[in-house]
Amino acid sequence: TNVVELSSVSKRFKLGTTEVDALKEISLGIRKNDFAAITGPSGSGKSTLLNLIGCLDVPTSGEVKISGTRTSDLDEKALDKLRSRAIGFIFQSFNLIPVLKAVENVMLPLQLHGLKAQQMREQAEHALRQVGLEHYIDHLPDQLSGGQRQRVSIARALVTKPNLVLADEPTANLDSSNSEAIIELMRKLNKESGVTFVFSTHDASLLGKVDRIIRIRDGKLQEDTAAAPLKKAL
Ligand code: ADP
Ligand code: ADP
Repeated sequence: TNVVELSSVSKRFKLGTTEVDALKEISLGIRKNDFAAITGPSGSGKSTLLNLIGCLDVPTSGEVKISGTRTSDLDEKALDKLRSRAIGFIFQSFNLIPVLKAVENVMLPLQLHGLKAQQMREQAEHALRQVGLEHYIDHLPDQLSGGQRQRVSIARALVTKPNLVLADEPTANLDSSNSEAIIELMRKLNKESGVTFVFSTHDASLLGKVDRIIRIRDGKLQEDTAAAPLKKAL
């Protein structure tokens, strides 16, 4: 089964009397082991789509299933629990807490998992080793480069061992060589540890590195290189 499944999902935002159809009738499944990019121009609906895949937002119509469960059948608490165990998030601005060391930032998502302090630290150090930052565990975010900060945030996303990691424009604040390095790191984690990754980018130069391209424009699914040929033609 798919990790996440969207069926005919639409999202409309209302701003006073103005309505924006941010997504229109999107159907797609995120499969285990996918390494996929969502791409499209600014304002096309990439963030909205990621927010729906990650169950951070709910659709106006259509259905979202996570590991086979309809999210509309879950209450807020159950959804929170499912999300915090199944999905890791990475953001373009890293979202690290400046007064916490790298290892402490990475430990944060484990707070809700009922582990002992020593176990939390060991798991956080393991995640930092996975992203090649074993020598930076006690550094503060402002003692790290942009690329290193994004690695910390990848470690933080991985530390709960999620089925799926979602990244909203993870390279938007990085130069091109750091951008490539971050995508290659995610790729390595995908191949070696089987982590499913979906990230958004407007940077066409990164698309050669993915297995699947989900292209949206004006809220519509324009292309999904993993879809069946019949669907592709629609
Ligand atoms: P992208 O990530 O591709 O830049 P977004 O998903 O952020 O696109 O936005 C898609 C459209 O939905 C845009 O027109 C945007 O202004 C609108 N939009 C996104 N989020 C909101 C919101 N919370 N309230 C109102 N409009 C929104
Ligand atoms: P991105 O770099 O992801 O495209 P945006 O600047 O489009 O970021 O959006 C940042 C946040 O603001 C998102 O959570 C999005 O949902 C929200 N947002 C985007 N457009 C609007 C809007 N027109 N009105 C209100 N919120 C918006």
